[in-house]
Amino acid sequence: MELDDHAEELASDLGVDKEEVKSDLQNLVEYSVPVDEAKQSLRRKYGDGSSGGGGTPSAKNVADITPEDGSVTVTGTVLTAGKRSIRYQGSDHVIVEGQLADETGRIDYTAWEDFGFEAGDTITAGNAGVREWDGEPELNVGESTALSFESDSLEVPYESGGEAELTDLEAGDRARTLEVAVLECERRTIDGRDGETEILSGVLGDESGRLPFTNWDPVPEIEAGASVRIENAYVQEFRGVPEVNVSEFSRVSALDREIDVGSDATTMDVGEAVRTGGIYDVELVGNAIAIRDGSGLIQRCPECYRVIQKGQCRTHGDVDGIDDLRVKAILDDGTGTVTAILDDELTQQVYGGDLEDALEAAREAMDQEVVADEIRENVVGREYRVRGHLSVDEYGANLDAETFEESDDDPAARATAFLEEVDA
Ligand SMILES: [Zn+2]
Repeated sequence: MELDDHAEELASDLGVDKEEVKSDLQNLVEYSVPVDEAKQSLRRKYGDGSSGGGGTPSAKNVADITPEDGSVTVTGTVLTAGKRSIRYQGSDHVIVEGQLADETGRIDYTAWEDFGFEAGDTITAGNAGVREWDGEPELNVGESTALSFESDSLEVPYESGGEAELTDLEAGDRARTLEVAVLECERRTIDGRDGETEILSGVLGDESGRLPFTNWDPVPEIEAGASVRIENAYVQEFRGVPEVNVSEFSRVSALDREIDVGSDATTMDVGEAVRTGGIYDVELVGNAIAIRDGSGLIQRCPECYRVIQKGQCRTHGDVDGIDDLRVKAILDDGTGTVTAILDDELTQQVYGGDLEDALEAAREAMDQEVVADEIRENVVGREYRVRGHLSVDEYGANLDAETFEESDDDPAARATAFLEEVDA
């Protein structure tokens, strides 16, 4: 069914103007709300009797709001207010997202227009819609909401301003304030929604860890080696890990202090790491129990660089493949398994030879599988310490390895470390 038909159906069910419903519907759908959920929340907004209510909703404490509430009136302190641009009916539309809190709790909100409130303001949102997001209630502050500023500020047990450390960030976070070092930074041209556009991308670091970032509207303060304060950043998942997004609405200023970037990656059990759903920089220790197909000497498509089978790229058809080395090793530590993916350099280390050697061996044996066999012999049954980027998705748990070293974890070293800890 087309959006138009959905709007038609809603308008006739609810007895309201179709264009109004359609614009609301489009808004929600472009904001990635599934169409059924969007329709449900519009039924609530326009007072479909089936979900109860009607009339002005009564005032509620934040902790008492549930996804079943059609709409509520709530008074709270704005903890964060982050502007973001979304595409709305073919043009860019600015929304404000963040968290609102009272004495009883915190709730995420989305304001579909800029009401002018900022972090620290105390507001009352009369007739704010409630929708469910990830099992939690979330406020929709829109056209039908009466918003007023309170002169008496509310005492809330939460900090406003959105200050955070990198390891605390999760996909979906809005309006975060970070003080970070720019560890890597490159300028790239991408095909954006308005044609070719320049962006910056790289890696940020602070005392807690490291995360990738994209700066959609490049600012001079962000360059490799700089220390910066970034206000109003948002976080989205990219390739299975949280990514810091710096937009045209973010404020970036140079810091006159150095940021200490922790050099240690978080070390975790494999099972624990996989359950997080993805970590940018993590260290895992496990036994290599197998080498997967597609390891050793492989061929890549010259167009898209993906691995090809028998000279066939899934996108580009018959191509002249480029030879490359790669390993996909399954690591197991008893709590879970992960596939460590080694690039050509790490593969050379575990193979004990370079691409020329691999091609030579394959020619001699008239079978390129001999390279994978050799690697299998060298690696399987040994314990490795791997550091890299973990992503978890429908393809499984993959660790893009930056380092891959045989574990030197011997009992004597562990005992010494234990004694040092006791003495400290
Ligand atoms: Zn291709």
